[in-house]
Amino acid sequence: SDVGSQKERVVTEEEWLQKWEMGNIGFHKEQRHPLLQKYLDVLLNGRSGLRIFFPLCGKAVEMKWLADMGHSIVGVEISEQAVKEFFSEHSLPYCEEPVPEISGAKMFQSTSGNISLYCCSIYDLSSSIVGKFDGVWDRGALVAVNPCDRQRYASLMINLVEKNSSYLLVTVSYDPDKHKGPPFYVPESEIQSLFG
Ligand code: SAH
Repeated sequence: SDVGSQKERVVTEEEWLQKWEMGNIGFHKEQRHPLLQKYLDVLLNGRSGLRIFFPLCGKAVEMKWLADMGHSIVGVEISEQAVKEFFSEHSLPYCEEPVPEISGAKMFQSTSGNISLYCCSIYDLSSSIVGKFDGVWDRGALVAVNPCDRQRYASLMINLVEKNSSYLLVTVSYDPDKHKGPPFYVPESEIQSLFG
């Protein structure tokens, strides 16, 4: 299909914050994503104690699941409400501190230290701030990014991963003329050209 109908669409940060305020968060699932369970071995590739990144993390329950397995989780999310709901819904004590490199940003970290959620735009991050990751769980992230920002997003993600990393990406396939998104339709060919 032609994706022309979605190419110009922009969802602003303000609109995302409003979705959280209104509880308009149909993308959030209480159950772990079946594809993460199915491909967990691919993500881990026999390794333990990984640094795993959740771009545009919302309050994804898989962060707690992987942290409980002994991995260290870093997420980024523009909505402070989402971040706070994550910690409270899992009864995880946390502390909150400013991020000196990013004006206005805060980092929320579980007291146990293994889950760090940055509350800022993903475009404010760099590997000098968050380091590099062994694994990425990209669900509701690339497909939530505005079509005009995809190239920038993919370049950033490539910069944030170690050489021997695994990147699990979930996309959705549908006729983009029938739904305005997000989630946006990202054709396989575009994924190939973005990530190589
Ligand atoms: N990955 C999550 C959430 C998907 S919805 C899940 O699987 O449930 C996309 C999320 O990205 C929303 O919570 C929205 O608030 C957040 N978001 C949108 N633009 C962002 C940006 N530029 N930087 C960080 N977070 C952003």
